[in-house]
Amino acid sequence: MSIEIVQQKCVGCQLCIKVCPYAAMEMVNKIAVIDFDKCTLCGACVSECKFDAIVLRRHHEDKEKLTAYKGVWIFCEQKKGVVQSISYELLGEGRRLADRLGVELSSILLGHAIVKADDLIQRGADKVYVVDAPVLENYQDEPYTNVCVDLIEEHKPEIVLIGATTIGRSLAPRIATKLRTGLTADCTSLDIDDETRNLLQTRPAFGGNIMATILCTDYRPQMATVRHKVMKEALIDKKRKGQVILKEYQKKSPSLASRTTIIETVEELSSTINIAEADIIVTGGRGIGKTENFSMIEELAKTIGGAVGASRATVDAGWIPYSHQVGQTGKTVCPKVYIACGISGQIQHLIGMQSSKIIVAINKDPNAPIFKIATYGIVGDVCEVVPALTKAFKKALGK
Ligand SMILES: Cc1cc2nc3c(=O)[nH]c(=O)nc-3n(C[C@H](O)[C@H](O)[C@H](O)COP(=O)(O)OP(=O)(O)OC[C@H]3O[C@@H](n4cnc5c(N)ncnc54)[C@H](O)[C@@H]3O)c2cc1C
Repeated sequence: MSIEIVQQKCVGCQLCIKVCPYAAMEMVNKIAVIDFDKCTLCGACVSECKFDAIVLRRHHEDKEKLTAYKGVWIFCEQKKGVVQSISYELLGEGRRLADRLGVELSSILLGHAIVKADDLIQRGADKVYVVDAPVLENYQDEPYTNVCVDLIEEHKPEIVLIGATTIGRSLAPRIATKLRTGLTADCTSLDIDDETRNLLQTRPAFGGNIMATILCTDYRPQMATVRHKVMKEALIDKKRKGQVILKEYQKKSPSLASRTTIIETVEELSSTINIAEADIIVTGGRGIGKTENFSMIEELAKTIGGAVGASRATVDAGWIPYSHQVGQTGKTVCPKVYIACGISGQIQHLIGMQSSKIIVAINKDPNAPIFKIATYGIVGDVCEVVPALTKAFKKALGK
């Protein structure tokens, strides 16, 4: 792409100077001039100029380059050789997008002594690119990035999806930077624009107050990270057939080099169930009053076989560790039952739990926003309602 000023049309109104986010415009002899060291070709000045005096040209060659990219790819996340459920969610969504585009769905699987490629085919992949090397056994930024970049440059997929997990949030921006393409982080829904075949990448913006749909029109591949638990897992079809392609690397290949060495992996130990995987979650909000009252939340969760969640207000107050936080800056969850105790229901919390099947809200304020999305609402003091519920469940379950 290139940008230029049509001098005959420029009236020196300076609107382009005001709108340029990169301070790349200046006036010389009452005519706009672009500082190409600063200009990013964002096009803000083009749409603002009322006199058609700034032209953004997309070269024919650029368009041809874009059409050379074909297919949808997903990065399959594994830990200790176990495929993580986010990968099955990406396969489900990737299959849907690939079918809309009429292209193949492929998966990248990196690790050491991995045998899960057929599993990915049964979940919807047409091809699985496997790279097996000792250095890839556990996630490491450099070799994982290099190998993914090598594969993407070689096969040129038009879309690459990665889970918005701890690993994905580290890997995706590194790949996008090396490929000099865009990345939309933390998407909650994806779709295809039928006319342009562009990927419509939707995610919360401005503190979760609006949902923004982002497009990557001029670069390929289009890359997005996708939140855990917002998309349905692909179902298993044992009869599905596909291709497993092994990519070999020399032992000393620079792509496998890493400046870090994993000395030890320490897992966070928790007496309760991981909220991202739980079928039942009991969540405590600021309304529970103090850190000690998380014990009544824990007791209810334990009684009904659930996990303990928390609002950001309680995490920020130091009442409970961050790993329990549900919401925009915490985890997205989709349990069968979500019991919100003393939670107001701000949008940033709702983003993380509103797709739960049954939502029970307990709040002393009958006008609390959480009641708008609740399946069942109990208006009352959590310190009375929660112990009463625990007692009733214990009796009903014979505990
Ligand atoms: C960029 C950004 C990201 C954010 N990310 C997250 C996130 O990931 N997760 C998240 O949770 N928040 C997040 N927040 C914060 C969010 O906006 C809210 O501040 C937070 O969710 C409020 O937590 P709360 O509902 O526990 O507390 P409050 O909003 O203070 O609500 C407490 C509720 O308890 C009720 N109550 C009080 N006493 C009792 C009682 N005795 N019995 C019954 N009910 C009672 C009150 O009526 C009230 O409705 C984010 C904010 C921003 C700006």
